[in-house]
Amino acid sequence: MSILFTEAKIGTLQLRNRIVMSAMHLGYCPEGEVTERLIEFYRARARGGAGLIVVGGCAIDRVGTNYSMVQIDADSLVPGLRRLTEAVHAEGGKIVPQLYHNGRYANFAVTGKQSVAPSAVPTHHSDQVPAELTPEQIAEVKEAFASAARRAQEAGFDGLEISASAGFLISQFLSPLTNKRTDRYGGDIEGRMRFGLEVVEAIRAAVGADFPLIVRISGNDFMPGGHTNTEARIFGRALERAGADAISVTGGWHETSVPQVSMNVPPGAYVYLAKGIKEVVSIPVIACNRINTPGLAEEILMACQADFIGMGRSLLTDPEFPNKAKDGEYESIRYCLGCNQGCLDHVFQRKPISCLANAGAGLEAEYGAIGRAQTPERILVIGAGPAGMEFARVAAGRGHEVTIWEKNGYSGGQLNLAAIPPDREDFFNLDSYLLNACLDLDVKIEFNFKTTAEKVLAAVGGGKFDRVVVATGAVPMEGAFPIAAGVEVLRAWDVLKGQGKIGDNVAIIGGGAVGIGTALLMAQYGTLDLDVLRFLYLQQAEEELYRLATRGSKKITLIEMLKIGRDIGPTTRRSMLEDLKRFEVNCLNKTKVLEVRSEGVLVENEEGQKVLPADTVIVAIGSASNDELYLALKGKVEKLNVIGDALKAGKAMDAIRSAHVEARKI
Ligand code: SF4
Repeated sequence: MSILFTEAKIGTLQLRNRIVMSAMHLGYCPEGEVTERLIEFYRARARGGAGLIVVGGCAIDRVGTNYSMVQIDADSLVPGLRRLTEAVHAEGGKIVPQLYHNGRYANFAVTGKQSVAPSAVPTHHSDQVPAELTPEQIAEVKEAFASAARRAQEAGFDGLEISASAGFLISQFLSPLTNKRTDRYGGDIEGRMRFGLEVVEAIRAAVGADFPLIVRISGNDFMPGGHTNTEARIFGRALERAGADAISVTGGWHETSVPQVSMNVPPGAYVYLAKGIKEVVSIPVIACNRINTPGLAEEILMACQADFIGMGRSLLTDPEFPNKAKDGEYESIRYCLGCNQGCLDHVFQRKPISCLANAGAGLEAEYGAIGRAQTPERILVIGAGPAGMEFARVAAGRGHEVTIWEKNGYSGGQLNLAAIPPDREDFFNLDSYLLNACLDLDVKIEFNFKTTAEKVLAAVGGGKFDRVVVATGAVPMEGAFPIAAGVEVLRAWDVLKGQGKIGDNVAIIGGGAVGIGTALLMAQYGTLDLDVLRFLYLQQAEEELYRLATRGSKKITLIEMLKIGRDIGPTTRRSMLEDLKRFEVNCLNKTKVLEVRSEGVLVENEEGQKVLPADTVIVAIGSASNDELYLALKGKVEKLNVIGDALKAGKAMDAIRSAHVEARKI
């Protein structure tokens, strides 16, 4: 029996299930006003069955805002906000705004104003030192929270959430790292909690005792010297006394070096933080961060670790996740990979967010539902990689008859390589989703089909197909350096597939995503595996667990001409670079390979030339379009498309999106 889909209450708010769509910064409101893009995005998530949608953050003023953020700081914005609440209500959903102030995370480049904070403590997340808030300004910020809450009520929202997590303003007051005040808002934990609690009280005074109020907190800041779950429990209890109806518990601050939502965070890793809060409060608790499957959500509820499940990216990736989970259609769910490529990385790049796995995310207003094609065609797609399958999926959904010819005995193309390095296996989920979706739509996939231009022309000439779509992907590039006679150089793609003999001293040429992934894979050979690690830890049998978990049997050097990790998004790059350090991979930036010799690799950098000893050399210097077939067909097939890497070698997200857009046009 499912607990996830039982009705439940937050304060006076009755919800149809226990899935709460967490606040996500979308970047869809360039002027701060609600846009059609925002409305249609959330309408789709409400239609998809989410119990509660938390919008935001919604900035309560123009000092603590972020780029293209929803604003809730003026009465003139209420009509737009009301259109949003009406859209969600029309789909049977409930919706609350997250009231938000960035504090010292705000950027002058976005706001044109100096940021403010409890104390003038800078952060690498901003381009300036914040001004310390005066007592008068503190009163103004509290008033801004209360006014925003009143507007939310007027706009028809079903309640409120206050952002007091992740290193934003209220958590800056809470932490001794950022609160150095000596007045009543600083000092011991009572003083540091005062601002957050007074915000809750001011909001309660503005909206009344019955208006549902959630507060989102960090269950552990994961900042050395900052708050742990112990202080979060004290704050949680105080929030309950101050009038909060629920507490949403997320992980650490944006500044923490501990990954929070990237692929290497095990699903449900931070549920224990919610459990810690739940143990000391009697109001509902919402668990968050990387809870990406219905099964995990059910387990958390069954174990009474939380009362609700917060899901952000899972509903970005699949708006229909709740409905599909409720109906038991688990295989048709498009699961979030935790890659951050379209979502969090875009936030750090100040772009509207999208999704690697869901090319239509954020384009709901622009495209609407996948409609039927006016003239159905018989389409041949060459290649069952992510671009080919996305094209096939969308085209078949539009009523075209689609056949895929795939040279391998399996689908997924480069997703199969991306999934091999440690902690990257979620890429397999995207392959599974696309394959299942294609098969559900009666796409005919012929595996082990060795395509040639002649076969394609014969099939088209014989009237079997009206259109040909080339999705042949990319091929790895070769190095431009000389290789001594008799020396074997391996390609990273082959190594990831398990081919090639790997020695003890490995040099990897190319420090992009593939090179780093290969380095981390090699570096973990000979380390303790997870089961052994857990066993030894539980037995308290070994004092060198960290060393044994991070010191493998191979010596790895990663050589990059420019900067290691430059093609990886900021959120994932940081944790991958940390892992390279952790596993003692020797990283050489700005280093040019001059020659591969029998004894190693001759390189040149600012220190001069030297030979790096290596018994195995692996090349990972990027990929180039595999467009041979397209060029052979060009001018001979009337309706011919080329998509994905075959058109331009790049990221999977770009390949999938281009395929999605092309398929909608046909
Ligand atoms: Fe999840 Fe990646 Fe999509 Fe972000 S871009 S929602 S992490 S699949």
